[in-house]
Amino acid sequence: MGADLLAVPAVIGGAEVTGDDAFLDLDPSTGKPFARAARLGPAEVDRAVAAAREATAAARRMSAETRAGLLMRLAELIRRDHDRLTDLETRDVGKPRRQAAADVVVVARYFEFYAGVLRALHGDTLPPMEGLFAYTQREPFGVTAHITPWNYPLQMVGRTLAPALAAGNCCVVKPAEDTPVTAVEIARLALEAGMPPGMVNVVPGLGPEAGAALAAHPGVDHISFTGSRPVGAEVAAAAARNVVPVVLELGGKSPNIVFADADLDRAVPLIANAILQNCGQTCSAGSRALVHVDVHAEFVARLRERFEAVRIGPGAADPDLGPLINAKQRDRVAALVRTGSGEADLVTGGAVPDEPALDGGFFFRPTLFDRVPPDAVIAQEEIFGPVLAVTPFRTDEEAVALANGTEYGLVAALWTRDVGRVHRLAGEIQAGQVFVNTYGAGGGIELPFGGRKRSGHGREKGFEGLLGYTQTKTVVIGL
Ligand code: NAD
Repeated sequence: MGADLLAVPAVIGGAEVTGDDAFLDLDPSTGKPFARAARLGPAEVDRAVAAAREATAAARRMSAETRAGLLMRLAELIRRDHDRLTDLETRDVGKPRRQAAADVVVVARYFEFYAGVLRALHGDTLPPMEGLFAYTQREPFGVTAHITPWNYPLQMVGRTLAPALAAGNCCVVKPAEDTPVTAVEIARLALEAGMPPGMVNVVPGLGPEAGAALAAHPGVDHISFTGSRPVGAEVAAAAARNVVPVVLELGGKSPNIVFADADLDRAVPLIANAILQNCGQTCSAGSRALVHVDVHAEFVARLRERFEAVRIGPGAADPDLGPLINAKQRDRVAALVRTGSGEADLVTGGAVPDEPALDGGFFFRPTLFDRVPPDAVIAQEEIFGPVLAVTPFRTDEEAVALANGTEYGLVAALWTRDVGRVHRLAGEIQAGQVFVNTYGAGGGIELPFGGRKRSGHGREKGFEGLLGYTQTKTVVIGL
């Protein structure tokens, strides 16, 4: 099958493993196969967990300085291979090349950041007690599992693997079947950087096979899952059966709240980017805009102009908007847009582009809905496509109620010049991150990130992300 296809093996215990079976990985810009990846099952997952377990002894013996050096070396190699990794990520996800290039830099920065902060990781000496002396130490869990999605394959490896390794864990990554390529590249670079075999293992495969086997494996001590809510719930149930902690990063329906005093010149381009970046396939995509009635008409007119000026094309041509990840996602977006057309005013978009040059790819036009009722399906459900729902409001209280009126709580943004309102409302918004007059913070590796409500629980990124991959041990000495 397809000798010209890129071969994507697993990396287990420092060795490349192909397994007996394979699956095809499509280029979303053309719909044609681009790679052929090892399709691993429970037996190979078992080997990967055993390899990680074996490496934990070496990982625990390592000084903080040595570990930091390894992470820095890995970051250097990622930067060295910037162009190659950019090409692979562009091809695999379909995203515009400059967005993939930015992702490569972000993943290097994750390893650099955690290389730095891991040397500040330490326990405490506890207050004096009668006849006792006590201190805490921060210990790794041991073997951590990382089940990652297809929207930011490289960034997810940086976000979850870098802090796990920094804390002294050994890892098994199950990348999404739509995008297995670059996680394997990172595992190869980790070996080149000098990490002991088994510290980073990557097991490509299908969710219900390799993913489910990893989530349920009794040798796993901690699970990080990013993806859809139903699968997140299954993974959490598997973690509960083994009584291990799980971090869930699920979806969102994040609102940009535009007040009458907002600087629209700044807000409009950033709000457009918040939904169009990566074709709307971002868990923190700004998929709702709540807009004060006084600026609503102008806001919608400006946004429409921007949406209609968007250049759509294959990722490698570095357009403004690439394709969706696969035909299933494209059809799902189209179905939700059809539902939306019966619920709200379709301002622009709403269809697959009819340009012959885009034939075969999974493209969809930037789509703007206005006057979306708060209980509409397109105001409540995560679409994961380039679809923005605008709802007008009159008062601050109404804006907060609308913002909080979904089951999600990942991100929100306030656009206003009123400092008092910023501080008052930032406290009332139910979201893990609240931006003010900005959105997204360029990856924001230093900033704790995670959801409330059905968006998940646990925090990654920042120093808090590192603490999450440790467990506290209290040592008490009788004097
Ligand atoms: P998914 O949840 O099916 O996939 C995420 C990861 O979980 C993949 O690695 C997949 O192989 C794995 N997986 C699938 N089934 C599994 C199982 N039974 N046990 C263990 N692991 C399993 O997500 P998807 O189908 O690729 O995307 C569907 C929806 O998920 C999207 O429409 C979007 O709403 C959401 N999503 C969210 C994010 C995010 O960053 N929060 C990312 C991607 C997708």
